Formats: sequence, structure tokens, C-alpha cells
Amino acid sequence: MVALLTGANRPISAYDIVHRCTAEGHPIAPTQVYRVLARLMAQGRVFRVETLAAYMLWRAPFDMCLICDGCHAIQLLPCPELPAQLAAQAQRLGFRPARLIIESHGRCAECATTLQ
Ligand SMILES: [Zn+2]
Repeated sequence: MVALLTGANRPISAYDIVHRCTAEGHPIAPTQVYRVLARLMAQGRVFRVETLAAYMLWRAPFDMCLICDGCHAIQLLPCPELPAQLAAQAQRLGFRPARLIIESHGRCAECATTLQ
């Protein structure tokens, strides 16, 4: 399963993993895939792109995930000050964020020029 994630340059869903493993002659149940993904996330090796309900290998620290709606490419940005700023804004409203996810959908540079 890690090999599937390593070879993917796009996030892949748990069901994509099930279908690819099955197609390669290694049938696996969705519950098994979710269990392995949970373990890999706990180890910090995989992260979930929440708005796509899909998974990618965690390669480097990042604070913001940019998702191209044209080609589904992911770009990960380090913005170390951003989470603290957003958490401070939320706390001024009395909200205590337990988890902060910063994802943005749009067009990558290539799609922005070719899909106009
Ligand atoms: Zn794109």
C-alpha cells in the first residue's frame, strides 16, 4: 500500500487503493485499508487531504495544501506563522480549535494557462 502511495503524484482515496490492490491480484477489504492508513497517519508517514477524502505520502513539513481542481495536483506550502495566526483569531472569538486544516482549491499554474 505504501508503494501505491509512493508511486502516486496525486492523492488517492481508500477505495482507489482497494481497487488497485485488487487489480494487481492482492484483494484487500476497505476496513483493512482504513486501518493501515490510520496507522500510517499516526506514524506521520501519510496525511489526508480532507476536502478530497484522499491520502498522500507526507514528505516535508507544510501548513497549507493547495489543490488543483483541474489536474488534482497538490502543492504543499510551509507557512509556519499561518496556523498560529488563525488559531489566535479563533480564540479571540472564544473558539478553541482542536485541529486546524488549511486547504485551498483552485488552479495550478499550468492549468490556469491551459484551461481558461
Ligand atoms: Zn492543475
